[in-house]
Order: sequence, then structure tokens, then C-alpha cells
Amino acid sequence: VVVLIDATKSPVLVTSALLYVNGPLHLGHIRSTYIPADVYTRYLRLKGVPVVFVSGSDEHGTPTVVTAEQEGLTAKAMVDKYHNLAFKNYQALGLSFDHYSRTSNETNHQTTQELFMILKEKGFVFKQIVKEYYCPTDKKFLPDRYIKGECPYCHAKDQYSDYCENCGKTFKPGDLIGAYCSLDKTTPELKDSEHFMFKLSAFSSALSSYLKNQLDVRDEVRNYVLQWIKEGLRDWDIVRDLDWGVKVPGMKGKVFYVWFDAPIGYIAATKEWAEKNGKKDAWKQFWIKAEAEKKGAKIVHFIGKDIVYHHALFWPALLMGTADYKTPDVLPVRGFVTIQGKKISKSRKYWILVEDYLKRWPPDYVRFYYTLTTPNAPTDGDFDWKDFQEKINTELLGNVGNFVHRVLTFIDSKFAGKVPKVPHGSKAGADEVAIKKKLVKSVKEVDKLYSQIELDRALKAILDLSQSFNQYFQHKAPWRADEKDASITLWHCANFVRSLAILLEPVIPFSAEKIWSYLNLEGSVHDADFDSAKDLPIKADHSIKKPLPLFSKAEDDAIQEEIRKLESLIAPPPKESRHGPER
Ligand SMILES: [Zn+2]
Ligand SMILES: [Zn+2]
Repeated sequence: VVVLIDATKSPVLVTSALLYVNGPLHLGHIRSTYIPADVYTRYLRLKGVPVVFVSGSDEHGTPTVVTAEQEGLTAKAMVDKYHNLAFKNYQALGLSFDHYSRTSNETNHQTTQELFMILKEKGFVFKQIVKEYYCPTDKKFLPDRYIKGECPYCHAKDQYSDYCENCGKTFKPGDLIGAYCSLDKTTPELKDSEHFMFKLSAFSSALSSYLKNQLDVRDEVRNYVLQWIKEGLRDWDIVRDLDWGVKVPGMKGKVFYVWFDAPIGYIAATKEWAEKNGKKDAWKQFWIKAEAEKKGAKIVHFIGKDIVYHHALFWPALLMGTADYKTPDVLPVRGFVTIQGKKISKSRKYWILVEDYLKRWPPDYVRFYYTLTTPNAPTDGDFDWKDFQEKINTELLGNVGNFVHRVLTFIDSKFAGKVPKVPHGSKAGADEVAIKKKLVKSVKEVDKLYSQIELDRALKAILDLSQSFNQYFQHKAPWRADEKDASITLWHCANFVRSLAILLEPVIPFSAEKIWSYLNLEGSVHDADFDSAKDLPIKADHSIKKPLPLFSKAEDDAIQEEIRKLESLIAPPPKESRHGPER
């Protein structure tokens, strides 16, 4: 992996994949993009980097229309419902978006049509008569999700007609083997319809060079995208015979394919953020090449591995085609998650809704658990309640919580709530020299890992440091030391508690803020200076507040209850749907 953002003070735009709002938010959604993007953004803020974090709801496309039909709602009513629910969940999870948009917003409709017109002028879109699936029973064109069949590449069954969820390849109508209408199971016809095509094939060599020289992405991802290019890129149908979506200029009753307007939603969200902050043109520093170069601005898209094709090929090609727009710089890709070893299934409701999780557990627990167990790689993971319990009880409680609480209660009870003085003329011993050295080294290491988006490794390094603090405290045993020695120990430890609060803020912002307030420090930990985590600025006689335990134990009963709930749901067969921002 190339070194990523080097925490210079150039502006950074961070995005998490747009949420496809045809269902409630569940624990599968937040692992690959929302939590890591927020952790990274919070780190950049602590570093003083001007970062803008945007995302939004992806509201168009046939899956929306199909689900709305099933729920007896209009498409608009359904996306409103799930957008509002997701937004409420995000706030409760502490996701600190600077702006959260919707692709159905006017800004996105306008921007999409604008980019389309530019691409048309430049000759990168052209009209073509295409074959579209047409259901004679329903008497209408049925794009994408309405039609299912077997993938011609990997032969996975029951794939939708736009792309394979199993192997990630995209299709055109006619590609599916044994296509059938998902509404009535009849065999559709292929009928002529006039569409616009995007000349993706014209960008093969530009995309190869972009992937090799510009895009910061893990090698395994880079290599499989390059393999796709080698196999030959096909021009891309960007129109659908549908009412719900961004209208195609000059074509009646047709809208853009959801994958055309969805990524443009990143630009629209940035525009809305700029507008909201009274800096109308501020979006250009990220998206307009000439402006971005002046400022050294970077774009970082956090995505799940199911949408690599769209983000590493379609999206940069579309931006290149405009000539003026800038391509993304960093593409952190993470894998899918199973729940208790089984695939998440929307149809069988085999999932844990964020809404339900939050009724029973603190937001910081899942932030902590996912950050610790999710590498910066497209490898899949598992949400396992036993493992969750073990990580929370051993690491969060037994390591971090233990140190913080012991130190604060000791100061509260033995030093009347005041950070003790290091007696005049006393020199720090070898233990203090060693632990301070470890602190400085760790802060540097954590800084580097956060900046490289190696978030799990950053957290492990923090936990290792916290372990050293525990050992130092235990070894010094202030409860049986004389007052001078105990004072030296507790003065150091009060400062170490502060260091932990800063280092952990990106991962567990709610708890870090609690620590900050127990320490009675000024302002908020969210505005702290990351680099100051290596310093010991808390002075003697500083009063702290009466501390309460930071975390409560994940009890066996509660964990068993969670497992029982999942077991009561029917386990889906293996081919059944996967997690992720489904389209
Ligand atoms: Zn039909
Ligand atoms: Zn396939």
C-alpha cells in the first residue's frame, strides 16, 4: 500500500458509500464504510486537516421502485421513510457527517444533467437502440431488478439483470441465462428502446494508467480491476425506461441509470455542504481539477468491495470525460460481514438492525468492535456476539476502562480530586523515562497507522499502549507507595488518561468525551490536538470531577439473548442475498 494522506494541511473530502434506502439500516451496512470513514475523518480533524465528510441516501433505481411496490408505498414515501430512519441511526452512532444529502435532491438532478450535457458535447455519450427486457404480461419495460436469471460468467443463480452480486461483473439485457420477470415469473421479451451509451471503452488506457499511477488502492483490488480492463470494457448504457429518477434531457419517460447519478451525488453533497456554509464555490476545491491542484486537495471514497467496479472504472471515466473534473485519490475497500457466521438476508430479516442494537448497547461498543476486527482490505468478516463480548470485556473494559477508572478514582479518593504535585527536586525514575518513551513512540505509530487508514492496527497500537499504562500503574503500586512516589505516579497517569482520550476519540467519541469531562479539561476532546497526545500538560492541583465507570460489562445473559434472537430466525440458504448497499 502506498502511503496515503500524509496529514499535511491540504483539504480532504471523505465520503462513505451512499446508502441505498430500500430498507432499514443494519449492522452489515456500517462496517465497510460508515464507521471507518467516520474514524478516519475524526482523526483528520484532530490533526487540524480541513476535512469535509459527506454522504447521503441513494434513492433512485429499480430496486427502490420494486420495494416500494411491495410495501404499498410510492417510491418517494419509501425513500423518505428509510432516509429519515437511517439519518437518526447515524446520529446515534456518532457519525459526524458535515453534510448528509439525498440523490433525489434538486442539486443532484441538476448536476447529473449538467455532467451528462458536458459528456455529450465532448462526444462521450451517443444514442443507440438497445434491447430492453419487456414483460408482455405487465406490458412494460422492466429494467435491472425486475428481471432475474443466471450469471453467464460465474453461473450464480437468481442474479439481477444489471450486475452479478457474486462475481461483480456487469450485464446488458440479454446476457442473463434463463431470464424471468420477478413480478410474475414469465419469460420477458427483448424489445428495442432508444438509450444513451457512455463510451467507457474509450477510457481503457487512461483508466489503466490512472489505476497504476494515481489511485491509491490495495494491490489485490488494483489487480482485479486491471484484469477487467484487460478483458475489454464495454460501452455503458446509462438510460432506463422508468419514471423514478433523474430525467434524461430530450428523452420522454426515461431516466438515468441509478449508477450514473449516484456517484454524482458525492459532488452534489459537496455543493450542498458549501452552500450550507455560505461558501458557494468551496466544492470546487475538491472536484474541479485546476482548483484542487492549487490546494493539493484529495478525495477519499470509502466503499464496500461490491461496488469496486463502479468506483474504479465508471466513476473515474465519467469524471475524466468531462475534462475539468478531478478523479478520486484514495479508495479504501472493505469486505462483507456475516452475522454469527451466516449471511445477512433482507428477505428473511436475518440481520441486526442498528435501531435494535442501539436499544441495548452503546454506540461506542460496535464502533470499537468493528474497528478492531476490520482490516483495511476487501476481506470478509463476521459479527459474532461471543467475540463481541470478549473484545468489549477484555479490551475496552479490562484494559482501557480499567486504567482510566483506577487512576481517576485514586486521585478522587486519595488526593481529594486534585492531580498531585511532583515534589520539588524529585527526578523522574527509570520507570517514568521508559513509559514516556513508549508514549511518544506509540503516538507516532498510531498517527502513521491512522493516516494510512490502517484503523484496526492503529487501535491495536493504542490498546498496547494502554496495556503498558496498566503495567506501569500496577508496578508502581501507588496504594502502598509513600506519598512522594504515589504523587509522581498519579501525576503521570492523569496525563496518560488524557493521551488515551485523544488517541481513542476517533474510535469511541462518546467515551472519549466522558473521559475528557471527568478530567475536567477545557473544551471538547473532539477539538483536541492529536499530536499533543504525546505531551503531559495537566498541571499539579488541577481538579478532576468525580468519575463514574466508563463502560459496563457485556453480560452473559444479554449476549445469550442476542444469540437466541438470531437463532430464532431461519438461517438463509447460502446463495441468498448478501449485505451491503444493495442496488
Ligand atoms: Zn412481468
Ligand atoms: Zn457472476
